[in-house]
Order: sequence, then structure tokens, then C-alpha cells
Amino acid sequence: MQSQSMEFQTEAKQLLHLMIHSLYSHKEVFLRELISNASDALDKLRFEALTDASLGGGAELAVRVKLDKAAKTITISDNGIGMTRDEVIENLGTIARSGSKAFLEKMTGDQRSDSNLIGQFGVGFYSVFMVAGSVKVVTRRAGGDAGAVMWESSGESSYTLSGAEREGHGTDVIIYLKDDEIEYAEAWQARSLIKKYSDFIAFPIYLPNDKGEEEAVNQTKPLWLRAASEITPEQYEEFYHQALGGHGKPLCTMHNKAEGVLEYSSLLFIPAQPAFDLFSYERKHGVKLYVKRVFIMDNCKELLPEYLRFVRGVVDSEDLPLNVSREMLQKNATMERISKALVSKILGKLKELAESEPQAYKDFWKNFGAALKEGLHSDYENRDKLLELARFQSSMGDTADDLASLKQYVGRMREDQKEIYYITAETRDIAQKSPHLEIFRAKSIEVLYLVDPIDEWVIGGINNYEGKPLKPVNRGDLDLGPLGKEEAEKQEAAKSELRGLSGRIKEILADLVEDVRVTSRLKDSPACLVAGANAAGAHIEKIMKAMGQEVPAAKRVLEINAEHPIIVNINARNAENPAAPELEDWVRLLYDGALIAEGRPAEDPAAYSKRVNAMLAKVTQGG
Ligand code: ADP
Repeated sequence: MQSQSMEFQTEAKQLLHLMIHSLYSHKEVFLRELISNASDALDKLRFEALTDASLGGGAELAVRVKLDKAAKTITISDNGIGMTRDEVIENLGTIARSGSKAFLEKMTGDQRSDSNLIGQFGVGFYSVFMVAGSVKVVTRRAGGDAGAVMWESSGESSYTLSGAEREGHGTDVIIYLKDDEIEYAEAWQARSLIKKYSDFIAFPIYLPNDKGEEEAVNQTKPLWLRAASEITPEQYEEFYHQALGGHGKPLCTMHNKAEGVLEYSSLLFIPAQPAFDLFSYERKHGVKLYVKRVFIMDNCKELLPEYLRFVRGVVDSEDLPLNVSREMLQKNATMERISKALVSKILGKLKELAESEPQAYKDFWKNFGAALKEGLHSDYENRDKLLELARFQSSMGDTADDLASLKQYVGRMREDQKEIYYITAETRDIAQKSPHLEIFRAKSIEVLYLVDPIDEWVIGGINNYEGKPLKPVNRGDLDLGPLGKEEAEKQEAAKSELRGLSGRIKEILADLVEDVRVTSRLKDSPACLVAGANAAGAHIEKIMKAMGQEVPAAKRVLEINAEHPIIVNINARNAENPAAPELEDWVRLLYDGALIAEGRPAEDPAAYSKRVNAMLAKVTQGG
């Protein structure tokens, strides 16, 4: 094959430029990245060999690291799947990984945090250029009869491809170290880095010892198959970092061996911090599936429901056949049973955490609550458990940090209270200042603040908690039942007193409101808007509008506060002269005021502003 020079894709160039010119610490991770690639290649080979007998039965699958101080080279070889010429171009000439893209986006130019980012994202193959002046990759694809290919580059803007010789399938990465990085060719250094970063790689990593004999440096017995009693917390943590790409200390570690009807081992971690891709569809991490110690796939979606996507770990099944396909996993009874058991383990662990370490649980909820809440909607079977785990802001809390569980809410309910009240709003501030809360405040009834965009959707699926219905404060006729007894008579009187005004307001706002009625929910505000009992919530309407969706124009009910001076005065003027022209301005201002209190714009902002100005002109006259 003729040697051919090719340009890196633009994004790859950017990443390479960063590697070469901007990152000076954490350089050692290059070895971890290359060994991890080699291990992936071995996994892929073993997986393909399950269905293609011609690929199996060869030499032991292993990674070999060779050092040559004189030549200043490190060579990392594997006898894995290898790459065809096209695959080399695709894999080593572009960046296709979401992780690397996200890394590029997050780069701030701040050296220290960027180095940490490298640790977090694991930016892969290109990290080799932090230490390499140039790199050669010789690779040959398993199966098929294409020969070997050599890729060469100094990491600047281009690379060269040419034909090469290689015995058998696999890949050699030959690193030509920069002059000031030759310490990486020291055996003690390489050994300690492999121990530090690659100890849990499932294939042996061979490095020549002092006598020149090959020696496996890593532990190859999978951690999850060892007895929990023999594993230290540090080992778990190392595994979490090395094998699962986790960071820092995991919040919870769950190591189990199931025996009996189902036989599998699981080692799961709940991270302390969310990954950058918690809400992205290209998520890489999750739970890895192994069958009888053979790696089958990363991020096996059949193992855990979406809402537990932040959990990382390994599941190794003895019952599944080795040649499982993705299609087969989808409706597989064994998978379903494993998944059910895992979910129950995880939810149980979270419950335990909530009880024993409420502060740690609160932090967990802040990081992952939004994901976990999705389960309230999708996992009917575990709804009760999830409801116990859910936390909300509440009118009883002083700050957004004070979260309440439904259990706490119920424990604090007034004796005569039958329902759990909540308000959905865009922010805590809007919720707190909502006129709808006035009566609740006056009566010391707690209201939950649902301020997460998905809350309204989630809560829609929950009718009650422990037999107590969940009720939005701004929908339907508010019936505080016996709580409002003393008000009931007053309200009857007010209703007849304001009958005329209510009718007149309804006339004026005919296009905008469905009805006008005297309220029992206001104390300080003159009026508020209430959705019909079956209408979508105000908040959801707003979200739909923001998403450019048609929102059915559901008219709402304007409720007026009979005791408020504005209403009293308007009522007097209406009684005096229902045709008074200023009545219309006042009523429209009242309506706009109610909208603005919800965080919405006035119906017609220009007209609103004109009315306010006209009134200001009047009151400021001579003032
Ligand atoms: P990642 O490994 O996270 O996908 P990298 O940048 O490290 O990202 O590698 C890009 C791709 O190059 C890999 O996904 C893989 O397809 C290919 N690759 C890298 N190293 C090897 C190897 N030793 N054997 C086979 N393929 C490899």
C-alpha cells in the first residue's frame, strides 16, 4: 500500500493541540487510556469469537508493555480485535466519542481544573501526545484477510497511513517519548502506573521483570468475584475509578452474590457526583454486563431502568448464554429478574442512606433527584418506595436547602387536614410569593413547592400518598373543608354582596376568564387566577408554550378577595354607576396583576403599562 498523508478532523486537531500545548499535569493517564483501549480490543475479540469460531482458540488474550530506554520508546501491544484501514481513519483520525467532545466544550483554559477534567473524561487515545513526540500504530483486524496497516503521526495536523507487516491480529502502539518524558520508559514507573490505574483490567498486563521474563503486573481475578470480606474500601474505590471511570469516593457501594434460582454477582456504585452526561442520550457509563466473566457490553440498558442511570457497576450472570445478543436481552426473563432484584437493592440502599445519613441523602437528592423522580412516572411497581425517597421544597423550609419528605409532611399535617397541598412554579421565589399561598400561610398549612420543570409531569402520575390526595393549590375550587368553617358564612355573605360586581367583571373579561367568583384563598392580594379542576396546570402550559407547542386556550377563573380594599372600592363604584368608564381599566389592571404574580407577562403589556402610567399621573399630581 502506498503511504498516504491525511488531515485530522477539525475537532480532533483541537483536542490534539490541547494535548500537546496546554496540558502539563496528569500526563501519566496516557498509559491508562492506551491499556484500556487494548483491553476493550480484547473484549471485542472475545465477544466476536463467541459467534465466529474461526476467531477463538488462539493465544492467551493479553496486553504486553515493552520499554526501551535507549530508543526512548514504550510499546503497548494487544492481540485483540485490531482495526482495518477504514477503522483506523474513523477511530484515530476523528473524535467520535461524546466524552471527548464534552471535554473540549468544558475546557476553560484554567490549567488545574482542565487537568482534573482529563481525569474525569478520560480523553482516550490522543492523550498519548502529552508525552509522545510521535506515535506509530500497527494494527491488523481479526477475521477477514486485509493485511496490517500502520498509522503514524506527531499529533500536529496530519497523519500518515501505510501498509505494514504484523503477525496475527491485534494492535501495537509504539510511543516515541519526548526527551523530557523518558522517565515513563523506566520499569518501576510503568509498573507503578499499571498498578495504580489498570490493576482491575480483566486481562493480564505483562511487563518484563528485572531478569527480562514476562510477568503479569495486575490482579486478574475480577474483584466482583472475590468475597466482600476480603476487599478493602480502597480496593472498591480503585475499581470504581479504574474499571468504571468513576471519580472521588462513591457514595454507596453494593456488592452482592445471588445464589439459588438466579446466579449472578453484582458490584454497583452510587456516585457522589453526577457525571457530565447524566442527562445526555449518548451516555457511556452505567452497568456493564458480563456472562460467566466474559464481557458482553457497556451500559447495558436492560439491567436498570433509565431513572437509575447514574448507577455504575458490573453484573456477571451465570445463567445467560454466552452468545446473548442485544435483541435477546430485551425480553429476557432472566434479565428482568436480575433487573428487578437490582432495583430493589438500590432503592433499599437509598432508603437506608436517607435514614442513617439524612445530610448525605439530601446531597444525593440534589444531584440525582431529578433522575430518580422520573421513576415516579415510569416505575409503577416501585412507586411507593420512590415516594418515600422523594424530597421537596416546602413552605415550612427557610431555604431551598430545607427539603421535606412526604412522610414528614404528613407528620406535620393539621389534625383536620385531609389533603397534601402543593404549588408548581418556576422558582421558589415565585411559589413563595404566590397569592395562592396566602390562605395556607394564614392557617399554617404546609404547601410543597414543586419548582423542578419535570415536577408537574411527575406529580400528575401520583394520586395520593398514604391515602392522602395530592392537591394543587391553584386549581379547582379550593375546599379547605372544616379548615374553612368559620369562613364559610362570611363567604356566603360576601358572595351576595359582590354578585353585581362579579357579573360586571365577567362581562369586561369575557374573552379571558371562564368565571369570576369570591375567593376563600386570598388574604393580602385582591385577586388571583385559578385553573379549572381538570385543566393543565399553569406551569405546564407555560412549558408547552416555551416548547413551541399549541396550548389549548383554557380559560381560568378569576377569584376576588371580598375583604381587599381595592375590591371593596370597585364594588362601591360599580354599585354607584356600572357604566363608569374607569371600571374597565381597574378590572383589567386587576387581571394583569394576577398574571404578573404568577410570573407571566400581562395580557397586553403595552396597554397595561399605559393604564398604570395614567393612574400614576393621577396619584402623583401635585404630590
Ligand atoms: P475510546 O476508546 O474511548 O472509544 P479512544 O480515542 O481511546 O476512545 O479510541 C478511539 C477508538 O480507536 C476506540 O473506540 C477503538 O475503536 C479504536 N482503538 C483504539 N485503540 C485500539 C486498540 N488497541 N485496538 C483496537 N482498536 C483500538
